[in-house]
Amino acid sequence: MADTSGRVTLATRVKRAAARLDYRPADVSPQRRVQRRYSIRLWSVRHARFLERLYNLFADLFLRLHPVWKTIGYQRAEAPVKFVEKRVKGLLFDCRMCGQCVLSSTGMSCPMNCPKQLRNGPCGGVRANGHCEVEPDMPCVWVKAWEGSRLMRGGDAIKNVQKPVDQSLRETSAWLRVTALAAAEREHKRQDEAA
Ligand code: SF4
Repeated sequence: MADTSGRVTLATRVKRAAARLDYRPADVSPQRRVQRRYSIRLWSVRHARFLERLYNLFADLFLRLHPVWKTIGYQRAEAPVKFVEKRVKGLLFDCRMCGQCVLSSTGMSCPMNCPKQLRNGPCGGVRANGHCEVEPDMPCVWVKAWEGSRLMRGGDAIKNVQKPVDQSLRETSAWLRVTALAAAEREHKRQDEAA
């Protein structure tokens, strides 16, 4: 478009110079694109109750399979289980594979997505709109954790103090670890009852 003096404006020149491509992004708002990055994660929080029930069934199944894991060898089972765990939890929770999953205590909101990786509640910098002070477009994972925990039957576990992250467990399977721990606990209980 020309201005009042008849000259072509810079904005028009930039527009004309822009390559005309067959592909145009469906949603041109960068803000919307950033928000989409969190949409599945936020869906998981909104469906925390359903996921809690699903996880309990799944954990039970894994525990029943303990003799199978033992026969195969937990070490040998680790690579394929980790492959699946990483992808499923990566999709649903943006899991960072810390190896010590606390999702059932944090309303299905993964605390490792907090830029400060806080495991026991938010820092003092949550914005008035409930977003992170470091990543302003991201809803604070702890605000979401509280919302998700209110939907869960075992939601009060959010009040439990979490231990610091054991970095030596990074990139290991939390599913197998929890299963092995539950199996050992079940074995101790049986021994105590038999004694
Ligand atoms: S708490 Fe750890 S294992 Fe669980 S989803 Fe987050 S990074 Fe993954």
